[in-house]
Amino acid sequence: MAKILILGGGFGGVVAAERLAEQLGDDHQITLVSRSRRFVFYPALVKLAFGKCTTKDISFDLRHAMLDRRVNFIEAEVARIDPSERKVTIAHGEVEGKLPYDYLIFALGRRLATERITGFYEHAQHLLNVDKAIQFGKAVSYFHEGHAVIGQCAGTRLPVPVYETAFALARHLDDKGERDRVKITVVSPGEFGLELGDYETTIRLKKALISNRIEIVSNFPTSSVTANSIATATGKTINHDLLMLLPPFRGSSAASYLGVTDSEGYIAVDPTMRVIGQERMYAVGDCVNFEGPKLGHLATRQSEVAATNLAAEIDGHEPLACYSHEIKLVIDEAGANSLYLRKNLWNDAPGVIKQSRVWSWAKRAQKEYWQVKHA
Ligand SMILES: Cc1cc2nc3c(=O)[nH]c(=O)nc-3n(C[C@H](O)[C@H](O)[C@H](O)COP(=O)(O)OP(=O)(O)OC[C@H]3O[C@@H](n4cnc5c(N)ncnc54)[C@H](O)[C@@H]3O)c2cc1C
Repeated sequence: MAKILILGGGFGGVVAAERLAEQLGDDHQITLVSRSRRFVFYPALVKLAFGKCTTKDISFDLRHAMLDRRVNFIEAEVARIDPSERKVTIAHGEVEGKLPYDYLIFALGRRLATERITGFYEHAQHLLNVDKAIQFGKAVSYFHEGHAVIGQCAGTRLPVPVYETAFALARHLDDKGERDRVKITVVSPGEFGLELGDYETTIRLKKALISNRIEIVSNFPTSSVTANSIATATGKTINHDLLMLLPPFRGSSAASYLGVTDSEGYIAVDPTMRVIGQERMYAVGDCVNFEGPKLGHLATRQSEVAATNLAAEIDGHEPLACYSHEIKLVIDEAGANSLYLRKNLWNDAPGVIKQSRVWSWAKRAQKEYWQVKHA
């Protein structure tokens, strides 16, 4: 019997556990460790901030979901991984101590490197978790006039909620009859766009923002934040009365001392999702070092590949399943201008772009589908 340990209860960890349970049956022991027993559907956090759904609508109890699939669940903090002993130290939870494993799947996501932006912790709002989304929603409800600045820092690796927040705020103010009293600015650290080398998407996104009277400021790498302004290291400043700023991302701290990460802390994996230089260790999701944005559907596809290969390894076969880096994203909240983009970042084929209200409905349906399929 093999002991399989999955670290992280997000998109990557949950799908890896489900696929392994399906493929391996009862013969092996699968355990998932995560710091919270609630799975949160992050792509719905913009809707949560704007009061379009509740926390209950976008989360479910991981322990029940895992036990239904015969996967053990431990609510605890991953403190240390020791690949030479094949043990993981867990702390601050219902079980503490060292857990042995035969195979490991690392799915601990990314870290918010707020310390890289002076004043971020004290003054900036974001919406990358439930509490922060609710806090930002409160700030929106008190905001009636002035300058709203919505942006991301260099290294954020998640453009979707920036644009969705700007569109949602424009609509919220329209509904309240306050749009004329507010200027909305979207701030990008580099050239404006999704940074996917896709010119057509950039143009369409720009048009959608302009038609919603949202100003675009490019090449503004925010390096500091105060209660009423953001600034770059070269002294450019923008004043704000409401700020939603996504901080830089970095790889998970739990991988930082394993000697498997790049300069930003992301884990080097090959297309089979095996960690380069380690045996019996896979990594999936936001924690890996693939280029481009960090997205939930990439995490789930990487997990399917990792689970198939891990099951093959246990059966004594070569892990042959390979991941291909095809991005699919929807920028919602823009009504008929909502955008869908599909593009493979590992080849030169042009992306497929579609624009219609249907993509907004599709994104909503995807959330319902997730809850039904995985809760
Ligand atoms: C506001 C927002 C909007 C988004 N919109 C989209 C979208 O439209 N489309 C899309 O595809 N993606 C979107 N994403 C991105 C998507 O949510 C992520 O790519 C996805 O969550 C990554 O999955 P993961 O499993 O790698 O990491 P995560 O979901 O971050 O899961 C990591 C898990 O590990 C746990 N963990 C971390 N460290 C430890 C530790 N030391 N000990 C124990 N547990 C730990 C965490 O609590 C968490 O449960 C969005 C994200 C946000 C925040």
